[in-house]
Amino acid sequence: MKKCIGCGAILQSTDESREGYISEKLIDRDNAYCLRCHRLRNYNENNEVLKEDYLKILSKICNENALIVHIVDLFDFSNTFLPQIKRLTGQNDCIICANKRDLLPKSVKDYKIINWVRHMANLDDFKALDVILTSAKTLDNITDLVESIIKHSKGRKVYFVGCSNVGKSSIINAILKKYSDENKDVITTSNIPGTTLDFIEINLENFSFIDTPGVFNDKQLINNLGLDSINKIMPKKEIKPINLQLESKQTVFISGLARFDFLEGDKTSFTFYFSNDLLIHRTKLENADSLFDRQKGALLTPPTIEEYDNLKYYSRVLNFDGLKKYDLVLSGIGFITIKAKCKIKITTIEGVVIYSREALI
Ligand code: GDP
Repeated sequence: MKKCIGCGAILQSTDESREGYISEKLIDRDNAYCLRCHRLRNYNENNEVLKEDYLKILSKICNENALIVHIVDLFDFSNTFLPQIKRLTGQNDCIICANKRDLLPKSVKDYKIINWVRHMANLDDFKALDVILTSAKTLDNITDLVESIIKHSKGRKVYFVGCSNVGKSSIINAILKKYSDENKDVITTSNIPGTTLDFIEINLENFSFIDTPGVFNDKQLINNLGLDSINKIMPKKEIKPINLQLESKQTVFISGLARFDFLEGDKTSFTFYFSNDLLIHRTKLENADSLFDRQKGALLTPPTIEEYDNLKYYSRVLNFDGLKKYDLVLSGIGFITIKAKCKIKITTIEGVVIYSREALI
């Protein structure tokens, strides 16, 4: 009887839902991994759960003395920063790993972003032992992250937690590439009692950590649009901010995803931080309705014309005081930096949350 060299399960080719499954073609190979371990080793299959399950999972950590590594997406911070982590992980220490640094302009100093992350976390009464800016794409600061974990873990268990899509698997992949010995089995899995979900323990030479399933975030845009549109919306490389001098009664379309109406205020500049694949198009407020009707799904895409039929739009009016710089955020899409006193009406699709915050940049 052959066993998987990853988890030790007896290999079988009859039932894919049972442990130890491997395709018939591979079962006679030496040193074979079951399908599950194979996926884990390549670490890019989603291991996602819904919120209720997730909360149950986190509450298990609450009773332990552990170090939590909370991974968030810098480009979608508020949507992916989970304040309930503080409650659910009890008194445990925490490191924030703010990922996708490569998407923000290089010209912005890291310490500014770190201070901003700390400030945003403090607003939720959340104190992190350390904030590390990483990029799983360029591999920036992966070593710093690992060093911080080793420094702060002090022999305790280390849990990686985060929403789906923040790049948790990519970071783990990057750590595995850097710190694992190809010839050694580094991954073991164990079920979480009361669920069918797994904690995945990853043992490296100097340290080990436990990956928890990614919580599925129901506010993420991904749930409303097709893959082509999502690919255009999610930035892949450093965002080139677009600075526009606007007068009141002007409108800016962010493709067909959002409409920014400058209702009141003196002439001023606004900076648009969105994927380089989205169109930032200025027009007069009085022409905006007809432009949208003519160009939706054409010039103003994404969304595609087919997607429009299933989408609903909503608006909010926001007043800015001009005393500080603020970001008007469209969760999952991007943000607009505003420095002057003004009144803005913003319209976007349901599922995208509109809010303002102190400016990141
Ligand atoms: P998970 O669901 O948290 O495990 O996230 P994944 O690792 O699957 O990544 C989600 C998406 O974000 C993928 O398209 C990745 O290529 C992308 N991604 C992950 N990390 C980074 C990063 O540091 N920079 C950029 N630009 N993209 C990233």
